Amino acid sequence: MSLRQPYDPDNIFAKILCGVIPSVTVWEDDDVLAFMDVFPQSEGHVLVISKTSRATSLLDIEPEALKRVAAAVQRTARAVDKALRPDGFQILQYNGEAGGQTVFHLHFHIVPRWAGRPMKGHGHAPMAEAAALRDIADRIAAALD
Ligand code: AMP
Repeated sequence: MSLRQPYDPDNIFAKILCGVIPSVTVWEDDDVLAFMDVFPQSEGHVLVISKTSRATSLLDIEPEALKRVAAAVQRTARAVDKALRPDGFQILQYNGEAGGQTVFHLHFHIVPRWAGRPMKGHGHAPMAEAAALRDIADRIAAALD
């Protein structure tokens, strides 16, 4: 998939947004959704997406929508930090198939990191149990400011 492909309204995250595919929500408002990555690269791996933009990559998101997603990434990362007390965290954002992107609805990954605990590979992590993800999502949500 090229960087400049049109938005596919049937992509997985579009289906999550319209409720066709289930997801484990951390929090949401009218503009953004934060939900658990079902193939977590570490405990507490959260994805943040815009609900209003049909951007596939960072290149085509509208500045106002980007501001809201960026603020949501910070708010969620602060809650991840409070809830899970990682030693660090990574914000990852992939663009285009050659850039490692697999779902073509722009998103940001928040991946908590602990010293001495290796991160699982992008696209190689095992699927998590929904109940375990719900438990972590609830802890993160309870820590939101
Ligand atoms: P990327 O490769 O940056 O496009 O990231 C897509 C992410 O979506 C990967 O980390 C996948 O584990 C994750 N993912 C794929 N399907 C789902 C799903 N149904 N629910 C939650 N996360 C998903």
